[in-house]
Amino acid sequence: IAIAPSQLQQEQIILTNEQQHYLVRVLRLRVGDRFIAMDGKGKWWLAQLETEQAQVLEPILVKTELPVSITLMVALPKGNGFDEVVRCCTELGVACIAPVLSDRTLLRPSPQKLERWRRIAAEAAEQSERAFVPTILEPVTFNSALTNNVATHSYICEARGDYLHLNNVIKSDTSEIIIATGPEGGWTKTEIETAIAAGFQPVSLGRRILRAVTAPVVALSLISAATEV
Ligand code: SAM
Repeated sequence: IAIAPSQLQQEQIILTNEQQHYLVRVLRLRVGDRFIAMDGKGKWWLAQLETEQAQVLEPILVKTELPVSITLMVALPKGNGFDEVVRCCTELGVACIAPVLSDRTLLRPSPQKLERWRRIAAEAAEQSERAFVPTILEPVTFNSALTNNVATHSYICEARGDYLHLNNVIKSDTSEIIIATGPEGGWTKTEIETAIAAGFQPVSLGRRILRAVTAPVVALSLISAATEV
């Protein structure tokens, strides 16, 4: 289960009613049974259920993180498409997701959406046994996202044009990558030019045009394949 840091007090985990319900009613654990608790910030523990709380038995070393820190900048797709992007990219090891409002973005997200994406990321990190829950930033315009997110290796995926394939530009020893994918209608010419001026290299993900919700998943898969041994 995922716990907040404040729930851990002197080797005891103070369980919320919801967590007790999940452990006892859903998982059918009894007092004395063991389970795993994580804080989403890199720490995991083996714990033992007691009546209204749990005893921490020992820390667990989790080695499920990628060797590279990936920030995914995604122009928000329409409908609930971003839910699936958050879920899949969390499973694939993304460190941070920056939802972006581009010139052709159709969606104007509500604050409730951000809460929902963060919950989806936490659930996906738990199911994938990730040490960290990825950060989901507040949606900002493409221009602000370009200035807020800077890394030595920054790429923008462009479906048209004669660009190098992402496979051919990723170096296995890279420690930090930013990668941007566009909306259903694609990036505008100005957006590509602005990204290049900000230090982003345009790259291809292959000869086929991928859907706006597929492109981030493909990009993440290629980076993890190139960097994880
Ligand atoms: N209508 C756009 C066009 O014709 O260029 C296609 C946009 S595509 C559905 C959505 C986004 O996915 C693109 O902006 C790009 O970032 C990414 N994408 C899709 N296929 C790609 C490819 N083969 N190479 C690089 N990026 C791709």
